[in-house]
Amino acid sequence: MSDVTTEDYSTASAPVWVGLLPWQHDAARAALRHRARWPHALLLTGREGIGKRTFALELARSLLCEDGAGDGFACGVCASCRYVQAGQHPDLRVVEPVEVDDDNVATPSLWITIAHVRALIDWAQLTSHRHVAKVAVIAPAERMNVAAANALLKTLEEPPPGTYLILVAHQPGRLPATVRSRCQWLAAPVPDEAVAREWLVGQGVDQPANVLAQAQGAPLAALRLANADYQAERTAWLDALASPPTLDPIDLAARIDRAPRDLRKALLGAAIDWLAAWCADLASTQAGGAAFQNRDYAAALRPLATVVAPLPLFRYHRVLLQERAQIAHPLQPRLVAEALLFQYQKLFG
Ligand SMILES: [Zn+2]
Repeated sequence: MSDVTTEDYSTASAPVWVGLLPWQHDAARAALRHRARWPHALLLTGREGIGKRTFALELARSLLCEDGAGDGFACGVCASCRYVQAGQHPDLRVVEPVEVDDDNVATPSLWITIAHVRALIDWAQLTSHRHVAKVAVIAPAERMNVAAANALLKTLEEPPPGTYLILVAHQPGRLPATVRSRCQWLAAPVPDEAVAREWLVGQGVDQPANVLAQAQGAPLAALRLANADYQAERTAWLDALASPPTLDPIDLAARIDRAPRDLRKALLGAAIDWLAAWCADLASTQAGGAAFQNRDYAAALRPLATVVAPLPLFRYHRVLLQERAQIAHPLQPRLVAEALLFQYQKLFG
């Protein structure tokens, strides 16, 4: 599975609780209407970067609230609500792929392991502190490895009374069928473009339309991309792709080795994403459509689209997707990028 995303390359920091995002109110209201019959295991699905985790935490806060109004929403003022807001509610547990070292410092890891799940099960057996409910959020649930998913099955099927599990998944198809079938599914809300742009402006993003296009409409992903280092790197790569005759694959790929060592694999992942989006936009432009992800390069894409042959472009795009899926452990990120860039150049004769 592909383990590196642009999320890793751009700096990401997720606060524990931020409340509902503007496009989530209606969906929360609809879901919480059924609070009295809340499923023990909920699978919250949707594309990366639309705020599923935030949504899950708000549902959790509502389930834990000691004084909810009739609409099921969290009151925001009771002790439970305040504990959730402070990230300190003992009856709320968030399970994420992180490793904690001896000094209690957490770093992101690839998998949610059986150790994570065993700790979760132990926690689920404890008596609730606030005597309202207990909620565990597992995000992203598809990062559970096979052993972890198997260990969770029994709890998923029959959690201790008053215990609710919320699994968050970008790609629910990667979860074992045994896990999927034990959950009730809920699709997380997706904002329309105007709402997403307005939210990004509120977060201090100057050119919301460009980053939103790059993130294919996912606002939280767009916010992560809206950092100067990421955009400068993208510009360097796309400017080079825009001019195949003068493109120097060795020189461009060498940028990977100039990046800090721990970012090289992620930069390769980002570069392959840029190439794939670029090729998708070439194909779209060729078909008389618009550039979806690289709107800021629409003018540069047009002349290239008239030169490139559709079938080789399609094959190359498929190679990029295969390479992206196998990126977990490239020995030489620079060499992988070089080879892909030489192939790109050949598309233009
Ligand atoms: Zn409350």
